[in-house]
Amino acid sequence: MSNKILVRRAAVLGAGVMGAQIAAHLTNAGVDTVLFDLPAKDGNPNGIVDKAIAGLAKLSPAPLADKALAGRLTAANYETGLEQLAGCDLIVEAIAERMDWKQDLYRKIAPHVASHAVLASNTSGLGINKLAEVLPEELRHRFCGVHFFNPPRYMHLAELIPARSTDAAVLEGLETFLTTTLGKGVVIAKDTPNFIGNRIGVFSMLAAMHHTGQFKLGFDTVDALTGPAIGRPKSATYRTADVVGLDTMAHVIKTMADTLPDDPWHQYFKAPKWLAGLVEKGALGAKTGAGFYTKR
Ligand code: NAD
Repeated sequence: MSNKILVRRAAVLGAGVMGAQIAAHLTNAGVDTVLFDLPAKDGNPNGIVDKAIAGLAKLSPAPLADKALAGRLTAANYETGLEQLAGCDLIVEAIAERMDWKQDLYRKIAPHVASHAVLASNTSGLGINKLAEVLPEELRHRFCGVHFFNPPRYMHLAELIPARSTDAAVLEGLETFLTTTLGKGVVIAKDTPNFIGNRIGVFSMLAAMHHTGQFKLGFDTVDALTGPAIGRPKSATYRTADVVGLDTMAHVIKTMADTLPDDPWHQYFKAPKWLAGLVEKGALGAKTGAGFYTKR
């Protein structure tokens, strides 16, 4: 394999906050893209994906304003659509941040993946080597972590996290694709819990959340202090939590707590109780229309 990978057709697995936007970003870059999710509970096989694609049109500016390009983004589900993976050069997995769910899906898709295709996980910080364990050996060489930042159409950085098994040519090919086709800057990270961005970023958000209670501050006050005032252009602690999704945040915090028991900061890798309460109620942020800035 050369240091380029030819991506004419891609699949994105997971039509949530990240998957839908990554799919739109790929389509905008001229890559025919098929977006997958579970069949909807109401019986509509592509219902979740159809809703996600309709949601893209409501973003401002809409990422797929060009109708000719928009037609190149299609919907599929894992029950009836897996044979479509055989025609894909790149598969980006962006399902919920759970090791067991991701590994189950990898076992399911592996027999359908083309022998040249690259598989990349958008995990926020789960172990890339651990994810790779369930893949057949030949696919393990073509597997890598690709962590896009949210929102992926604006954030110009991606972390690339090779597994021990990732071929050097696959890593190089992905780096070239991300930089030249998707216009991203790339940081190569090691397979450590939450990689670099979320190890630092989530920790600082956690600290701000703990201090909100300690100093009895309003979330908007904390945002005023942790946004533009300290050099972040727009986002801040609670606004970011809304955009990320509170359930995803809780998973990412748990990864640090579970995998870094001896870290000197371990006592701080604990979400405030109210975060779990909000997640339990289904108040997950912007994606459910119920967060700090989005009220039902
Ligand atoms: P999300 O909750 O918005 O969407 C997750 C999708 O996974 C849903 O559409 C859901 O139907 C699907 N799903 C749930 N369980 C599944 C299963 N068992 N099998 C198959 N599909 C299943 O999540 P998201 O925010 O898009 O995050 C997706 C991935 O991207 C996660 O690994 C997350 O850590 C990572 N990530 C998230 C952000 C962020 O800011 N939200 C940023 C970077 C990376």
